[in-house]
Amino acid sequence: MSDTSAYARVRERLQQTALLESALAVLEWDERTMMPPEAGGYRAEQIRHLAGLIHERRTAKELGEWLEELEPESVGRHSPEGCDIYWAWRDYQRHCRLPQRLVEELAEATVLGQQAWAEARKRNDFAAFLPHLEKILRLKREQAEAWGYDEEPYDALLDEYEPGARCRDVAPLLAELQSELTPLVEAITSAPRQAPFEILQRCYPVAVQREFARETTRRIGFDYSRGRLDETDHPFCTSLGPDDCRILTRYDERYFSGGFFGALHEAGHGLYDQGLPKERFGLPSGTYVSLGIHESQSRLWENSVGRSLAFWKWRFEAAQEAFPEALRDVSLADFHFAVNHVRPSWIRVEADEVTYNLHIVIRFELERALVQGELAPADLPGAWNEAYERLLGIRPEDDRVGVLQDIHWSAGLIGYFPTYTLGNLYAAQFLEAASTALGNLEELVARGEFEPLLEWLRRNIHVYGRRYLPGELVQRISGRPLESRPLITYLRRRFEPLYGLE
Ligand code: ZN
Repeated sequence: MSDTSAYARVRERLQQTALLESALAVLEWDERTMMPPEAGGYRAEQIRHLAGLIHERRTAKELGEWLEELEPESVGRHSPEGCDIYWAWRDYQRHCRLPQRLVEELAEATVLGQQAWAEARKRNDFAAFLPHLEKILRLKREQAEAWGYDEEPYDALLDEYEPGARCRDVAPLLAELQSELTPLVEAITSAPRQAPFEILQRCYPVAVQREFARETTRRIGFDYSRGRLDETDHPFCTSLGPDDCRILTRYDERYFSGGFFGALHEAGHGLYDQGLPKERFGLPSGTYVSLGIHESQSRLWENSVGRSLAFWKWRFEAAQEAFPEALRDVSLADFHFAVNHVRPSWIRVEADEVTYNLHIVIRFELERALVQGELAPADLPGAWNEAYERLLGIRPEDDRVGVLQDIHWSAGLIGYFPTYTLGNLYAAQFLEAASTALGNLEELVARGEFEPLLEWLRRNIHVYGRRYLPGELVQRISGRPLESRPLITYLRRRFEPLYGLE
């Protein structure tokens, strides 16, 4: 049999599996937007059944045999076909290395873990969640051993979300960020000038916010003939097909930033999905490369672009027209300062750009120690509170706003947190390169011309799917490995003048 026919079979199999996966995504999107409450039981059965079919197809023996025929160890993974073979083989092996018993135990432990976590958070009762966390950790360590690693088990877990990333490289970057950002947060907190945050808590009618967010995301390039913007409790972005990208946000009449920047963030994810080669949908060469790179696109549009002065030079007048009651007496400078309000807080998802990464540094330190067995789960609340005091200067008043705030650990998502800060680091380094290439990025943004930036992102990142690892993309784009300097410089340039710290 020729290689071409083996590849054709692999390709067909992957695309058929993508049909099932995207059907699953439709069910999940509906569950989080439209589904009536009583429909949950049957929906869970549908999802479980489909997920089972998908798992069977991914781990089917014949897929492994076709892949082996293609000698995956020897193909170059940068061409579209090589990329498909490389990742299909890697994913196949990772699936096959996990004993069925472990897969089932993990699935059960994380379903029960999430229920226990939700209940424990409600009652501020970490002890009730502790046995679940202990079990999940034990299973995740077992998973790491099954997948294998060179230096430490955490690497195997991190690699699932950020292929190629290693603690050896990530830890120093986070340490550099921490040593720069903790003093910056202190300086900002005690600066005499503070952001007029109250502006954002005036009345912003939801119907108008909806229209404003839709029009703004359309203008930055989100294609509404191939996507939709809807509402949900926990905003996200999902693609239901090559021409069907769904983004979701949540509006609050008394808080402008939540809905608007939520929409911009998800639209950033959506622009990446819409920029992947659609004829390769469902194949690795048509799939996003990592969570960190995905997050770099959302954070770039939400923050680097969306919270810049240039952006509001373009959009503030329209905002004033849309929300005359809230913004009539507000200046562009005050509005821009307000949307860049910095204050240490307990809750990561509500954090500003400066403090956000410190939340991630804390999660990374703690979960790495948990996985290494250097920190006992029972000691977690104490270690958490101590870290918040040390890095952010605040101590959570209870575990609800402390160690119980995030769903990740109860869902078995260990090794996931670093991708949030990696996203910010990538975004800053990409933006430096884009600014150099485009020359007058700020002027373009101030005129509402986003096409050149989007086109640059498409050409340098989106079109490649998984053909380059995140680290390779960074190297190709900037000529350097990932560094902390671009993000630190970016944050200082934006926030020091605002707070009068120059
Ligand atoms: Zn995101």
